[in-house]
Amino acid sequence: MDFNTILKEIQDEIQKYFTKGKLPNYIPMLAQADENDFAMSLVTLDGEEYHTGCSNKKFSIQSISKVFTFTLALEHYSKELYKRVGHEPSGNPFNSLVQLEYESGIPRNPFINAGAIVTTDCLSSIYENNVFSKILDFIKKVSNDQDITFDEDIFISELGHGFKNFALINMMKSYHNIKNPIDDVIQTYFKQCSIMMNTKQLAHAMLFLANHGKDPFSKEPIISESKAKRINSLMLTCGHYDASGDFAYKVGLPGKSGVGGGIVAVVPKKMAICVYSPKLNFHGNSLIGTKALELFTTKTGLSIF
Ligand code: GLU
Repeated sequence: MDFNTILKEIQDEIQKYFTKGKLPNYIPMLAQADENDFAMSLVTLDGEEYHTGCSNKKFSIQSISKVFTFTLALEHYSKELYKRVGHEPSGNPFNSLVQLEYESGIPRNPFINAGAIVTTDCLSSIYENNVFSKILDFIKKVSNDQDITFDEDIFISELGHGFKNFALINMMKSYHNIKNPIDDVIQTYFKQCSIMMNTKQLAHAMLFLANHGKDPFSKEPIISESKAKRINSLMLTCGHYDASGDFAYKVGLPGKSGVGGGIVAVVPKKMAICVYSPKLNFHGNSLIGTKALELFTTKTGLSIF
């Protein structure tokens, strides 16, 4: 398949959508993104790479980090993890408090904010003061790239404005579903959201999920085949908050979005994809990113259905 031509066609066809969507402003630093940016990267399991747009430009991975922390937490806790976070779609916005209260502080899944805060708390119990550097090390390992760090300004911006996240963690603490000090856990969560990566690095970082849990190049197992299957299933059903059904319907691939404008997607046994465009749709997912992935699966037939 001629992926260079397909990426070029996608880049042409998405131009008309640049007038749509909005930059997020509840984290002030994110509102400073360049709304005309677009990048898309494909990396195959045999090492071929195809890129278009500003694929070297780093952006904050935000909720894409939830895939990495969930992978690490699942590796350590296995099924025990599900006592503290579920695996059902929420049908609610990413930072909703309502459902969390009537479900007694157990978040529906690890890909909404409350669920990711719990997985970060679980990792804090294991790694204690080293938790952020362990998360970062894991991301560097799966990306095969040591040049990854977080953005202090974005971290501070979230810390100063993440009122709903403070509400979520406090509510969960009241239900005894947070074991470590609130300030430590929330800071680790905000730091992981502020990690900066480009579409090339993120596509690389997702390859193990396209390859039954193994690094396709070193052949090193990152996670078991069965756990990789479950992570992909959760990305398919919960990766886009209350628009997860819509994403699965239109794109037909497991994927995870972040309010920084990135979306990663996995074509099982073939490749990983990352797309970036910072203006978001109503549900907090990259508007053009979603459109680009829909065009990709329509043009190539590479969806799981
Ligand atoms: N840091 C963001 C928040 O907690 C993550 C949300 C997202 O990327 O969807 O609000």
